Amino acid sequence: MTFAIASAIAILEEDIRRRKPPVADLMAIQGSDPYRILVATILSARTRDEATTRAARKLFQKAPDLDRLARLSREEITKLISQVGFHNSKAGYLHQLPGVIAEQFGGRIPDDLEALLRLPGVGRKTANLVRGIAFKQPAICVDTHVHRIMNIWGFVATQTPLATEMALRNKLPEEYWIKINALLVAFGQTICTPVRPHCDVCPIVNICPKIGVIPRQMPGPRPSPTPHETTNAAPSCLPDPSACVTIRPT
Ligand code: SF4
Repeated sequence: MTFAIASAIAILEEDIRRRKPPVADLMAIQGSDPYRILVATILSARTRDEATTRAARKLFQKAPDLDRLARLSREEITKLISQVGFHNSKAGYLHQLPGVIAEQFGGRIPDDLEALLRLPGVGRKTANLVRGIAFKQPAICVDTHVHRIMNIWGFVATQTPLATEMALRNKLPEEYWIKINALLVAFGQTICTPVRPHCDVCPIVNICPKIGVIPRQMPGPRPSPTPHETTNAAPSCLPDPSACVTIRPT
């Protein structure tokens, strides 16, 4: 059965408005400024959004644009972004960024995917996010949440984020390309979490096929001990009633 993607997106847009996912603060700091989106997305790799937001806020106070970033030493950048993972490497990328953009792109952040991919520290996720959010170009940013949830829905059946991006380019109506990342990141941070997804309160539980998901076991009365258990002193080994996992690898 085909997954009702339009219905799911409409329901989630309405639902997410009521929640406060960590990604919302990060998006507010970035706005639609290409520089801020580029820098914040480089910072966000393998880092929780809360830490990325704190580091981005500190960095943007000192370096609100490319010119000001160019005046910071690598050591100063490292200090400002020390809360994010791999901050030494990321400081190196950010230190190189103004020079590369000046030399290769006349000081303007490019809007072309191939050009963006030539910038230090920029992968497909960052390039697509800059293209879509900052330049309003058709682009699908596939991160771990988009890849995972699209497979749970059975909308795609893919093994890697790149394969998911290619499948979505063929299948997902273009009107959803730019918005799908923010929506599914927020949804993945609050309801359809990587471990123990909250299917019990999910607004699309009735249309989700839950591929690869073991439903959360709700707490209930413990079963009566069997005669065997009553006569043996060994502790019972009941599973944690709240245990629930997503078993599909991402
Ligand atoms: S029903 Fe469960 S698996 Fe499906 S989208 Fe909702 S939280 Fe995720």
